[in-house]
Amino acid sequence: MANTFEIAVFSGDGIGPEITGPTVKILRLMSEVSTGYDLSFAEAPAGAAHYAKTGESLPETSMRIAQNADAILLSAMGLPDVRYEDGTEISPQIDLRKALTLFAGVRPVTVRPGQLTPLKMPAGKEIDFVLVRESTEGLFHTQGCGEVTKDEARETLLITREISEKLFEFSFNLAKQRQTAGRGQGRVTCVDKANVFRAFAFFREIYDAEAAKHPDLTADHAYVDATALWMVQKPWDFDVLVTENMFGDILSDLGAGLMGGLGLAPSADIGLDHAVFQPCHGSAPDIAGQGVANPFAMILSAAMMLEWLGIKHDNDALRTDGQRLREAVESVVASGQILTRDLGGSASTKDAASAVEALLAMAPA
Ligand code: ATP
Repeated sequence: MANTFEIAVFSGDGIGPEITGPTVKILRLMSEVSTGYDLSFAEAPAGAAHYAKTGESLPETSMRIAQNADAILLSAMGLPDVRYEDGTEISPQIDLRKALTLFAGVRPVTVRPGQLTPLKMPAGKEIDFVLVRESTEGLFHTQGCGEVTKDEARETLLITREISEKLFEFSFNLAKQRQTAGRGQGRVTCVDKANVFRAFAFFREIYDAEAAKHPDLTADHAYVDATALWMVQKPWDFDVLVTENMFGDILSDLGAGLMGGLGLAPSADIGLDHAVFQPCHGSAPDIAGQGVANPFAMILSAAMMLEWLGIKHDNDALRTDGQRLREAVESVVASGQILTRDLGGSASTKDAASAVEALLAMAPA
C-alpha cells in the first residue's frame, strides 16, 4: 500500500530500550487509529551492548534494515565501559550518518510557556528556532584519523561545494515549510567565521548563491561567536540557523540548555533519501534500568519523523499526527503535573509517556 511506511528501530544502549518501548507504542496506536497511513516496525540490533555480545556494533543486517526503511528511529548508543580495541567509543549513529550521507543535522530549539528555562523570558515571548548542523564533514572530517606527533596535532576542516549546496537548499526549504506552517518569519541565517577563515568565506559564498534563489525569504549572516551570545540574549529572534559541523555541535548543546536540558531536545539527521530521528541525549548509563529516564526527547523525535514522512510523501495525516504528537508533549510539559526527575518532577518513564498517550486519546485525529 502506498501509505504504508516501514520504520527501522534502533533501541540501542542504556536507557535506549526504556524510552524506545513507550515511543513505539504511541506510534503504533496512532497508526492503528489513522486511516491515512500505516506504520510497520523492524528492530535493528546495534550498539555497544551488541558489540560486547557479538563483536559487531552495526551488523550488516541492521544496516540493510536501515537502508530499506522509510525512516529510522534511534534512541541512543554507546556505553562508557565498552570500547573498540583502539579505545574509541562505539557510536554506530555516526557510522549511519556517514554511510547514508545524512548531511543536515536538524536541532529544533523550542521553549513554550510553562517550560523550564534558565532564561528570563520576556512576557509573550516564545523560543522556536531550528539549528541545521552540517553533519558529514567540517571539522569532523578527520575524526579518528587526525595526525598526532610528539610536538604537534592536526585535524583538517573540509567544506565541499556539493554538500554545502544541498545543506543550504535544505535550510531554505525548511524555512519555507516553517513559514507556511505559521512557525517562522521565513528567515535563514548562515552562521560562520568568514571574517577569519577562507573556508568559511567559501561556505558563505555558496550560501549567498542559494539565497539568491529564494527572494521570498530573508537571508542573513552571523559570526558563530556572536550567535552564541544572541542565543542567550535574544533567541526568540531566530528562525533557521545553518552552520558547519563543529559549530553546530557546540551550539546545539547550548540550545538544549535553553530548553531546560537534554530531556526535551529532539533531533534528526536528514539526507536526500534517508533520515535518522533520535534524541540529542546519550544512553545515560547512570540512570539506566531504573525506569526514570525522560522519554520526551525521544517522543518529540518521533513527532519530527512523522512530519518529515508527511512532507516527503505529501501525506496530510502523517503531517497532522506529527504536529499532534509534538503538541501533546508540549501540553504535558506546560501543565507541569507529570514530569520526570530531570525536569524537577518524580514521574516514571512509563507515567510520562502515558500522559502523552492519554492526551492523544482525548483528542483523536
Ligand atoms: P553522549 O556522549 O553519548 O551524547 P553524554 O556523555 O553527553 O552522552 P548523556 O548520556 O546524554 O551523556 O547523559 C548526560 C546526563 O544527562 C546524565 O546525567 C544523564 O543521566 C542525563 N540524561 C540524559 N538523557 C536523559 C533522559 N532522557 N532522561 C533523564 N536524564 C537524562
